[in-house]
Amino acid sequence: MATDSKCIFCKIVRGEIPCYLVYEDAAVLAFLDIGPLAPGHLLLIPKNHYATMDELPEAEAQALGAVLPRLTSVVRRVTGAAGVNILQNNGRVAGQEVDHVHVHLIPRRDQDGLGYRWNPTKYAEGQAEALLKEYRQAMSP
Ligand code: AMP
Ligand code: ZN
Repeated sequence: MATDSKCIFCKIVRGEIPCYLVYEDAAVLAFLDIGPLAPGHLLLIPKNHYATMDELPEAEAQALGAVLPRLTSVVRRVTGAAGVNILQNNGRVAGQEVDHVHVHLIPRRDQDGLGYRWNPTKYAEGQAEALLKEYRQAMSP
């Protein structure tokens, strides 16, 4: 079991600090975020400690992904939210504060005041094609 003695989410996994546990299976836990952006905001985590998504082994990613549809449906049903944002931060610059992979499920309502500054840009001439080439190479086995 990959664990980190100082990590707050590992402490929850080890039962050293409490949480409002919603769901548990062999590989994952889901619990209430203690500083919710909206009531019912959940965190889904792998039990094993990995700092960021790119470190997560495929089997652990599958375990997280497998429970997401049901958890999303339950968040909607229980909170009565009109929508749900699924958010996952990697690195300080991306807003990650706890260095143990976690997925946020955030109930959304009309006019709830939550949101991103989502400022779309445009590619320069040839930039998309160049990136595409690099991405495809990087993803090829
Ligand atoms: P992030 O900014 O993506 O790293 O999110 C970390 C989240 O963990 C925040 O939304 C915190 O409110 C939440 N959090 C931190 N400590 C706890 C805890 N002990 N129990 C539940 N949620 C926590
Ligand atoms: Zn951890």
